[in-house]
Amino acid sequence: MTGAAELFESTANGAPAGIWSAPGRVNLIGEHTDYNDGFVLPFAIQQRTHVALGTREDGRIRVVSTFDADAVEVGLAELEALFPARRSDVPEWATYPLGVAWALLRATGTDPASVTGVDLAIASDVPIGAGLSSSAAIEGAVAAALNDTWRLGLDRVALAQVGRTAENEAVGAPTGIMDQMASMLGRADAAIFLDCRSLEASVIDLGFADAGLQLVVIDTGVKHSHATGGYGERRASCERGAAIMGVPALRDVSVADLPRAEQLMDDETFRRVRHIVTENQRVLDTVTALREHGPRSIGDLLLASHASMRDDFEISVAELDTAVEAAMAAGAVGARMTGGGFGGAAIALVAHADVRRVMDAAAAAFAASGFAAPTMFTVVPSAGAGREA
Ligand code: ADP
Ligand code: MG
Repeated sequence: MTGAAELFESTANGAPAGIWSAPGRVNLIGEHTDYNDGFVLPFAIQQRTHVALGTREDGRIRVVSTFDADAVEVGLAELEALFPARRSDVPEWATYPLGVAWALLRATGTDPASVTGVDLAIASDVPIGAGLSSSAAIEGAVAAALNDTWRLGLDRVALAQVGRTAENEAVGAPTGIMDQMASMLGRADAAIFLDCRSLEASVIDLGFADAGLQLVVIDTGVKHSHATGGYGERRASCERGAAIMGVPALRDVSVADLPRAEQLMDDETFRRVRHIVTENQRVLDTVTALREHGPRSIGDLLLASHASMRDDFEISVAELDTAVEAAMAAGAVGARMTGGGFGGAAIALVAHADVRRVMDAAAAAFAASGFAAPTMFTVVPSAGAGREA
């Protein structure tokens, strides 16, 4: 079972009591809209993180991962002292599973002395740091395993919130809830349409398989950091724009309000606002198009999203633009950069028969521009977190 059971058996006593998994995700459309109380349309992918769990009698939690050679072990009663301020002797990767345990106990008001100790062995085939949210996958798999084992009875949305709490407060990454919701609620061949204000989520059929389409990820390998520069600046511009418009968030500004916005603010702030406002509309339009006309009808929306991020929000890089242009020239239905920007991956919606051609075209275009070769693979919209065995 993808390494987690094997890792468990080589590092703990006997066989695990159960195996749980949660997927990574790709965002089909809706970029930088989450922290503006807007809409996103991500889907869970087939690459997953597996957790093998066994119980132990001494009230301790021990985590091992194929990601790191060393096990980390603490008493469940010590978690409260460990977080939110991360103790420096806990390696960062271990703050994800331990942070989930801490956040679960806190969210349910559970006395650590009342639940069993656990051994967790973690193995993942979600690429780490490629914008496919390996972080939500590890959080979701651990949250599902502990929720079942400790009989806490939280539903999937509550488990997504636990994952986000762990990431924000235990790890210290100020991310939204999109990734965890996608990883928890994913369905085969479907996306999750999420209202980031109400957290209302609905399942939207993608129909990629029936339409003979595949989604290709073109990972540029260009690393970004959300902690520095651009990401925070874009957030600040959005807050400024909302304040000038006199609304709590840019979610409350519509496309029809844009001419007025243009008169009220400087050009740069206006272009940031225009990206968010039109991107929210594009998510809504994509949902309508998928429902009424199927996935071949969303190509122009994906392209318009990319152009808006490139020209108005200014978060693309040459590698991402090259990936999108090469994919389109080779016959993709649509393509756009995905994720926070300043690097990371592009996605292309491609007819099955053209996948090879699109990948070859992207590789050739990168080589011609002197960029390092991209990593490319297809992703399949897949089921969310759950118990496997
Ligand atoms: P992304 O979510 O885009 O992959 P992040 O920086 O949000 O990137 O999360 C990656 C981090 O999550 C890793 O550096 C590691 O600390 C942790 N992580 C992810 N998967 C695992 C795993 N299987 N085992 C241990 N830690 C993991
Ligand atoms: Mg992440």
